[in-house]
Amino acid sequence: MAINWTEAQIEDVIARVIKNLNGGEPVAPTAEWDGSQYNGRKYIGVYADMNDAIDAATEGYKAVRAMSLEERERVIFAIRDLCRKESPIMAKLGVSETKMGRVSHKTAKHILVADKTPGTADIVAQAKTGDYGLTLTEMAPFGVVGSITPSTNPSETVICNSIGMIAAGNGVVFNPHPNAIATSNYAVDLVNRACAAAGGPKVLVASVIKPTLDTAQIMYKHPNIRLLVCTGGPGVVKSVLSSGKKAIGAGAGNPPVIVDDTADIKKAGKDIIDGCSFDNNLPCIAEKEVFAFKNIADELMSEMQKNGAYKITLEQANELAKIVLVDSKNPKTGVVKKTVSRDCVGRDAAVLLGKIGIHIDDPELRCIICETDFNHPFVQHELMMPILPIVRVNNIDEAIDLAVKAEHGCRHTAHMHSKNIDHLTRFARAVETTIFVKNAPSYAGIGFGGEGHTTFTIAGPTGEGLTSARSFTRFRRCVMSDSFRII
Ligand code: NAD
Repeated sequence: MAINWTEAQIEDVIARVIKNLNGGEPVAPTAEWDGSQYNGRKYIGVYADMNDAIDAATEGYKAVRAMSLEERERVIFAIRDLCRKESPIMAKLGVSETKMGRVSHKTAKHILVADKTPGTADIVAQAKTGDYGLTLTEMAPFGVVGSITPSTNPSETVICNSIGMIAAGNGVVFNPHPNAIATSNYAVDLVNRACAAAGGPKVLVASVIKPTLDTAQIMYKHPNIRLLVCTGGPGVVKSVLSSGKKAIGAGAGNPPVIVDDTADIKKAGKDIIDGCSFDNNLPCIAEKEVFAFKNIADELMSEMQKNGAYKITLEQANELAKIVLVDSKNPKTGVVKKTVSRDCVGRDAAVLLGKIGIHIDDPELRCIICETDFNHPFVQHELMMPILPIVRVNNIDEAIDLAVKAEHGCRHTAHMHSKNIDHLTRFARAVETTIFVKNAPSYAGIGFGGEGHTTFTIAGPTGEGLTSARSFTRFRRCVMSDSFRII
């Protein structure tokens, strides 16, 4: 990592997270905005035609290649700085446009991206010397990367991807989520403004005013695009992996949490609600269902209630399930499946409770909890809403068995609260997730109050894990025969 945090800085971030946990509220648009401009300021690097955007990103790639590492790092420093300064604007814009999440939490996510996304220090060469001379392996850019970004962390993902991809020496063109175009393109414009201010080219990264599945197809097929990076649900990850190009897929999860009877229950209750309610449960790593030992389940739910959780009955949960999950028909096969209602994803707990006639006017309210069985739709579906089902289990065998099943083989993220090393180890081995968080809120897994770098593109299906600059490189070898060894 290029950034070495002091104790005081870490404490500051944790304090900001805690302070922010109750502070977010959706806001109405305060300015004119769409995919091409914000408040009358035309976005730089955003084009009507995807082919023009790819051409611009190709020029951006040439410009990055011409920069020294020091110049690249200067541009990245400027992006971090502007991201910090304009994080409240992007947070408000994101909530206004998508109607999802919380302003204060989204602000904190942008600051995390600015502070903890690795830059050029992540790119490391390897040297091998021996009887036959020296072999050098370097992490080289792919060229122009085509990136598909989600609606759940729109500008966060654009800026995080931009820093990593530029650090690796690539150009980038984005096909953002259609429901978050203004926010995503604000971030594209921010990267370009920062770049120009740091002495770089006017357009370094590019996007389109109206991204669609067709513009994504142009991206897949364009000869200049050498790497595709996709952050989104199963449909889009599948489409990118079928493109015939080298692709990085960061897909869906359904993170389970196990709490056994050795855990610090007071802390577990607070940590789980802190993580689960963060940005109204939009992060793909956030706690989605809990498997609690039966002898501590009541105490755990009581601790959750002390931390802003509102408990509903099973009957009320069943009523809510009929609203937050809707039938969706596959146009090709005609098969009808339950899917999350876009009107409910990322909404405040009070809004969701209002849908079943429960009206709570409490600023401390953060999350809805309910006791269910394993087969309940709240356990089986990735809701991305502040609704947390709790399933009682008899022992660790049952807990691990059910938690692994609930994760549905996504191998994304899992959590556990326990002091029993054997239990922790057994679950981590069985669930095989990219991220496994022990005794902390889920966001510790992406460096928020936890060690390690951050990313908003967690590539489980293709194996890069928590992506960083090095994930966007290809290895190249140079061999010097019989020389350059100094011993
Ligand atoms: P989504 O799947 O609805 O959309 C993602 C993007 O893909 C959008 O730009 C969308 O327009 C596009 N898209 C969808 N189908 C496509 C296709 N067939 N071809 C080309 N483009 C297509 O994602 P969302 O609702 O914004 O995000 C939520 C999902 O993404 C959740 O499942 C969440 O777990 C996952 N996610 C994963 C990560 C990660 O790092 N693993 C991060 C964020 C979100």
